[in-house]
Amino acid sequence: MNAATSRREFLSTLAAFSLFPLEQAKPDLILYNGNILTVNEREPRAQALAIAHDRFLAVGRDSDVLNLASAATKKIDLGGKTVTPGFIDAHSHPAEAGLMHLRMVDCDLRSISAIQAALRERTAKTPPGEWVLGFKYDDTKTEEGRPLTVADLDAAVPDHPVHIQHRGGHTTYSNSLAFRKVGIGEKTPDPPGGKIDHDPATGRLSGRVAESANALFEKAIPQNFTRDDHREGVKLISKMLARTGITSATEAQGTPTDLRAYQDAHESGDLLYRAYCFINFHYLDAMIAAGTRTGLGDEWVRVGAVKLVCDGSISERTARLSAPYEGRPDDYGILVMTEEELYTHGRKAHLAGWQIGTHANGDVAIDTTLRVYERLQKENPRRDPRFRLEHCTVVNDDLIARIKALGAIPTPFSTYVYYHGEKMRYYGAERLNHMFALRSFIDAGIRPTQASDYPPGEFIPMMALQSEVTRTDMKGNVWGPKQRITVEEAIRVGTLNGAYASYEENLKGSIEVGKLADLVVLGRDPLKENPSTLVTIPVERTMAGGRWTFES
Ligand SMILES: [Zn+2]
Repeated sequence: MNAATSRREFLSTLAAFSLFPLEQAKPDLILYNGNILTVNEREPRAQALAIAHDRFLAVGRDSDVLNLASAATKKIDLGGKTVTPGFIDAHSHPAEAGLMHLRMVDCDLRSISAIQAALRERTAKTPPGEWVLGFKYDDTKTEEGRPLTVADLDAAVPDHPVHIQHRGGHTTYSNSLAFRKVGIGEKTPDPPGGKIDHDPATGRLSGRVAESANALFEKAIPQNFTRDDHREGVKLISKMLARTGITSATEAQGTPTDLRAYQDAHESGDLLYRAYCFINFHYLDAMIAAGTRTGLGDEWVRVGAVKLVCDGSISERTARLSAPYEGRPDDYGILVMTEEELYTHGRKAHLAGWQIGTHANGDVAIDTTLRVYERLQKENPRRDPRFRLEHCTVVNDDLIARIKALGAIPTPFSTYVYYHGEKMRYYGAERLNHMFALRSFIDAGIRPTQASDYPPGEFIPMMALQSEVTRTDMKGNVWGPKQRITVEEAIRVGTLNGAYASYEENLKGSIEVGKLADLVVLGRDPLKENPSTLVTIPVERTMAGGRWTFES
């Protein structure tokens, strides 16, 4: 090789390098003639956007953005359709739900006869002797107005054991064969912390068991999920989320197995949403020992906060309250962990640089959790801990002031008012004005998120918008109207605020140059929609990282 050749090679290398950014500047795709709601305060509306690889390259007027096109740029005329950033579900259980959808009958049906038909269909495909499993059953939502009985289940499936989980996750319903298999009879006493229900008239098993009595079934039902099943579960739920406009979700009770499932699904091209994977505190020591902490990963699969649990549930009325449930003067709900336990786990996580997300529904639980966070921050101040209050349902002015002072993040249920309205009466009209308190949070300068808690809650972002804006349930009952927010605010809650909750506000959550190209194309403009029909707005397309993850 002579000097001239090597100099030519050197120059061509240089040229290639200098061209590189120019090549990058040519968009792969331009969407134009749209009504783009950017959630970027500096430029709230745009007509067009350009995408190169997985990022927004330009956002602005049609003429300016179309000018950037090369011969290779694909152009899509939006025909005036509305575009928003992709929605972020900041508290959900998608990997777990995906596995359930893979194996179990979805019993979210409006009549007992429809549930029986679905069970029969599954039984026909199930080898003799194997369990037929169901989930998402809700006794308040079937037209018969009574719960499932053992007779209903025996009539549908006499020769296979049947076991169905209630949507809330704390009670289950089984047929006679299932009870025989696990050794529960009419005379079996209630286990500690559990209940086996009987028909008050006949004394026979009703079919329903609660809390720790479920463990008898859990032990008997084989949990033989393979590594591939976990990946398939993520693949299945990915499609379900993408169809509704979700591009990111938090796995709120994740495990190392979920983390692996996400990585597997991403590698096989099946992961269609960005996963922020919380880690259940049982795994905290192992995760710290492995040198990991919140933030490790990439924009598709990232280690999230450590998950702690302070109290019970809203839908099943075990949240810990300062005033009793309506009509049950001695019932204040339950605390699951003591303040000292929360502090011990929390301190370990805080010192190791983890974000902490604590399940706290009732005002007593929120007060307890905030006291722990305040103590951690006082003893060992960290610059930006972004403590999270998972659900943070029942609040008051004092709690809100402390949340603001700490810079903590509430993740209230977004669809409960609309979808679970029939359960709201247990809390009473006055308390509802302090529940899912988006108006109070936003007015105080706090950044609440959109959060479904699926499976217990629905994850459809347009339903979240309607619920938050109208505070009205499916039957037209209004619950806590003082907490109404505007459609524009609800969109920000469901996008940019969700990104902030996972330290990713500079990466996603708005349609801005340099951010990840995550977006939704809607059939109608939510800002012009009657608020009582927001839930009917169709999602036409969803994009995550420049790739369509759903097209209608
Ligand atoms: Zn949850």
